[in-house]
Order: sequence, then C-alpha cells, then structure tokens
Amino acid sequence: MPDTSATQSPIPYVNIGAQFAEERDELMPIIEEILMSGMYVGGPWNEKLEAALAELCGTKHAVALNSGTDALILSLAALGIGHGDEVITPPNSFVASTAVIAHVGATPVFADVLPDQNIDPAEIEKKITAKTKAIMPVHLTGRVADMKPIQEIAKRHGLAIIEDAAQSIGSRYDGVMSGALGDVGCFSAHPLKNLNACGDAGFLTTDRDDVAEYARLYRNHGLVDRNTVTRFGSVSRMDQIQAAILYYRLGKMDALIEKRRRNVALYRELLDPELVFAPPCREIEFNTFHTFVIQVDRRDELQAHLGAQGIGTAIHYPVPIHLQPAAAYLGHKAGDFPVTEEQSRRIITLPANQNLTEAEITRVAASVNRFLSKGS
Ligand SMILES: *Cc1c(COP(=O)(O)O)cnc(C)c1O
Repeated sequence: MPDTSATQSPIPYVNIGAQFAEERDELMPIIEEILMSGMYVGGPWNEKLEAALAELCGTKHAVALNSGTDALILSLAALGIGHGDEVITPPNSFVASTAVIAHVGATPVFADVLPDQNIDPAEIEKKITAKTKAIMPVHLTGRVADMKPIQEIAKRHGLAIIEDAAQSIGSRYDGVMSGALGDVGCFSAHPLKNLNACGDAGFLTTDRDDVAEYARLYRNHGLVDRNTVTRFGSVSRMDQIQAAILYYRLGKMDALIEKRRRNVALYRELLDPELVFAPPCREIEFNTFHTFVIQVDRRDELQAHLGAQGIGTAIHYPVPIHLQPAAAYLGHKAGDFPVTEEQSRRIITLPANQNLTEAEITRVAASVNRFLSKGS
C-alpha cells in the first residue's frame, strides 16, 4: 500500500495561536481593561497571581518575576551564592540552568543523569567539595527528580536545594508539588511552558521569608519605598498583562495537563517498547509532561522521516551543556558525562500538545513504529 501520509495535514509540535483563539473572547476584555488602566508593571493581577501560585504549590510565598532565568538568578543571589562557590546541576538541561550559576560568579559542577534523564543522586554525592553550596536539580520534561535521596544528601552536607522547576508546574513527588521540595522553586512561564504567558514571565516559590523578601526588593530596583534603596537591585518584574493572562490560564491548567497526560498514555500504549524507550513513571510521582521525550536508535533519520510527513518534533537538547563553547573554561571533554551524551544522540520529543486529537497521536505513533521496525 502506498504511504499516503505525506498528503495528510501537518501535526504541529506546538500550536500557541490555537490556544489563544480558544481564549480570545474571555481574555481580550481583561487585557483591554489593563491597557486602559495604565497600570502595566504592578497591580492587582500580580497580587492575585502570586496568592494563587503560592496556594497551588503549597508554599508560603510566590514571587512573580519576568522570567524563569531571573527566578534562578535571584534564588542563587538570595542564598548568598557567588564567587568561590560551587553548585551541582545536570549537564542535560536548557542552557539557562547552568548559565545562571556562572552569572552569579559561582562555578557550575555537573553530575550525570539517570535513564529517565533526571540528575543521578549517586553522582551528586561524588561531586560535593568544601566549596559546594547548593544542589540544583532540574525537573526535566515535567518529571520531578528523585528528591528523597537529594534532600537527604543536602541535609547531611548542609546544602541548599534550588529546584529548576521551569518545566514542572503542577508536577508532584510523593504528594508534594514541585517548587515546595527545596529551599526555592524556580518556574518559567515562557510561551512554550505548560503555564504560559504571551511573552516572558516566571516566578519563584519558597517558604523562606528571607528569599521572598530579597526577590521582592531586587525585582524592583531594591526600593523599599518610593525613594529609599537599601541594597541596589535591578528590574525583574512581571508585567500586569502577563500576570492576568497567567491567572486566567491557571484556571485551565488542570485540564491542559490532563489532556497531555492522556496523549502520553496513548503514546505509551501504541509505541513499540522493543523499539522505543519511554522512561516509565514511578508510583511516587505525578508527571505533567511539559515534553514527551523518547529514546531511539537512528534518531536523526527518524526526525527527518517524521518531518517529511509534516510531523513536528524537537530535540531537548542535542548538545550537552558541558560541551557548549561557553562551557569550555570548565575544561570538560566528550566522555565526561556518558549517560547525558548517549541520550543527547537518542532523544526526540514527540508532539503531545493539548490541541492534538487521538487520531493525530495514533498517526505519529504508527509512523515512529513503522520507521524503526524497518531496520537500516
Ligand atoms: C525554560 C527553562 C528555563 C528558563 O526559563 P525562561 O522563562 O525562558 O527564562 C530554565 N530552565 C529550564 C529547565 C527551562 O526549561
């Protein structure tokens, strides 16, 4: 039978325009009201959003910021981490996870990952020195890292935990929300994340008053009142329009996550486990699948094959951070983090967005199975 799939409609990796189209009638009046009010960088929506996020994550504070990257930078700075300090983090994340450590003047120290792509607690333990100040696990793909052993290591060595929870809003580990599993949780609301703004935005969550206060002052020039600065800060505020959009979308987030989980469950049912490795979910976790990443042989060929049929995929991430030109000063070479490097050649992210139909997921899965079963 001839392969007619090339003539079928494309399956986009993401469809952010479609998301907005569904919300337009409800969102536009809110946005218009804010535009008319003239209150663009602070105001009631920011406060409503912060209260809702703190409640969702089960933390005392949530601080709205301009990006996940600044949430990470402010967390490190609030904990007093800087020159001469080391922070342990995985080398297979989005570059921001490592960049922020360098940005505050500290040294990123990498620990390799597990088959599920999250940081390996046994590797963390090996990397601890007298200079280590914090562990920064990344809850990659929306799967929470194995936090129990990480919390135990942090406690034993007196280290802080900064969760890079940029991909894991709503994800849980042993009943606890990501963002409430360490000293600080750092979230991104970038358009590609599960809770997404129409531009850059992010926030941090914490039970610690000192961290929340630091972030609240720093994001607004360090101003304690209109005319008094006690410590120089910068600008890391969230725009009111983004806060309102995020507050509105927070109300729809559970449904979005459920749809993504159903999409992934269907993939798992359909993809051939002999040909495709999809990390199984542990009993203890609730995974929100910011991305659905599988590991396969002949990854580049598979991506080209799917692309030729209009099926959008992505690679998160093709170049491990320790092999980026920017990391050359750390002196790493290929082979230093073998699990991460092997995965970087085998991972591919399949479309799992909430706008996809069962028929579309079925078509993608069939195409993956068909290609991989053909051999070389
Ligand atoms: C998206 C992301 C960030 C950065 O968030 P921004 O809001 O884009 O600054 C940091 N870490 C990880 C793991 C991310 O996926």
